[in-house]
Amino acid sequence: MEHKEISILGAGLVGSLLAALLSQKGFGVDVFEMRGDPRSQKIGEGRSINLALSHRGITALKRAGVFEKIEPALIPMMGRMIHDLKGNLNFQSYGRASQHINSVSRSGLNNILIDHAESHGVNFHFDHKCSQVDLESVAMDFDDPSVRSVSSEVLIGADGAFSMLRRALEKTDRFNFHQHYIEHGYKELHIPAVNGTFAMEPNNLHIWPRGSFMLIALPNPDCSFTCTLFFPFEGDLSFDSLKDDASVLQFFETYFQDVLPLIPDLVAQFQTNPTASLVTIKTSPWVKNRSLLIGDASHAIVPFYGQGMNAGFEDCRLFMEWGEKLKFDWDKLLPYFSNHRKADADAIADLAMKNFVEMRDKVADERFVAIKKLESRLQEAYPDSWIPLYSMVTFSDIPYSKAKKLGELQEQIMRALPDDFDPMSHPLVPIIESFNALKKDVL
Ligand code: FAD
Repeated sequence: MEHKEISILGAGLVGSLLAALLSQKGFGVDVFEMRGDPRSQKIGEGRSINLALSHRGITALKRAGVFEKIEPALIPMMGRMIHDLKGNLNFQSYGRASQHINSVSRSGLNNILIDHAESHGVNFHFDHKCSQVDLESVAMDFDDPSVRSVSSEVLIGADGAFSMLRRALEKTDRFNFHQHYIEHGYKELHIPAVNGTFAMEPNNLHIWPRGSFMLIALPNPDCSFTCTLFFPFEGDLSFDSLKDDASVLQFFETYFQDVLPLIPDLVAQFQTNPTASLVTIKTSPWVKNRSLLIGDASHAIVPFYGQGMNAGFEDCRLFMEWGEKLKFDWDKLLPYFSNHRKADADAIADLAMKNFVEMRDKVADERFVAIKKLESRLQEAYPDSWIPLYSMVTFSDIPYSKAKKLGELQEQIMRALPDDFDPMSHPLVPIIESFNALKKDVL
């Protein structure tokens, strides 16, 4: 058996970033990844090919000194571009003038993180599929019997939503595990560039909200867009119901008319591209002896707040900050991380579920739009007091659990507004006063 100082399972987004951060601190880090080296491969089918990167993720990338390598490839998205049934467009900004989220290629980002970690001395072992973890001896075996087992001072499972390390934890006493597949799945579709330019306005996240389902599109550096259809698996209007080419075409003609001319091979793409499921996973504790779960392995969430990777990157930043505070005493740090991060992971999981309803339904609603306008006036007038929930989650480091609580208070206040309130003239002072009073009780 080989012995390592720190082993990380999974060279995905979180494992690669954490490896770089730990190696920069002087630890010996080995990363074991079941896939081949992604730098010499094409992107895996069925995974989302672009992601929204925002403040929390950027903060962690800056800490690792890698953000400047990623920044040139980012496409800023200033707000939501809502497409109604008739193809009319309505823009809703995400926050204040300069605040935006960023579309980034998953594989491009992953490759940069692996390169960066490697340049700081991390050893990557690709084609190493972990088949079993022994939590007592902090050791793991691999699928390939010719590969020697590895024991480690510390083992970190960054091996995603279907983590092998978590599987070992599931067999231990008092381990809590909650898994929920939502009724919707997703399918990705590709809008190609037109004569070398974007087929739609590139600096927005496009949304076609249709009540119980939706289509979204994020821009890519090659002037194409990646669309994702979030749609129920079963029911009258579902993936199941779109059995043949004609029904697919009819579905897009009815609900996404303005998309049809943008995807010439729509039906072929729809029939060929995989349909994938969406899962929320909550677990606790994330630690046993010297083994720890991190990222999706401990808290996989649905993608509707664009926060899964951002939360995983924030895990890495906090792990390092708390590590410094606790002098990297692993027996203190691992349980501390698990105990102190859990509430925030649960909060963003709940917020992400809630945001699905907002994205697919409420963004098209007049009252929702009016509330957003009022909130933007409130934020302008009282920037230290009223930060809209979306901004707290996306543009700040406020712990997710605190943002969730404050968001609930904001919602309570907004619910009490009369049906016909005017967002541009409604008095702000009474709102701020009641918010401040409520905050005192809750925080
Ligand atoms: P993963 O990225 O899943 O990486 C895990 C790694 O472990 C993989 O490389 C895998 O091959 C490896 N592995 C697994 N098992 C083993 C094993 N037994 N042995 C060895 N290696 C193993 N997040 C955002 O912040 N913004 C977004 O816009 C966004 N959009 C999304 C859209 C969709 C449709 C989906 C599904 C997710 C989205 N996410 C988004 C979430 C984001 O993809 C995840 O949170 C992120 O990938 C988690 O990173 P990770 O490193 O923890 O796990």
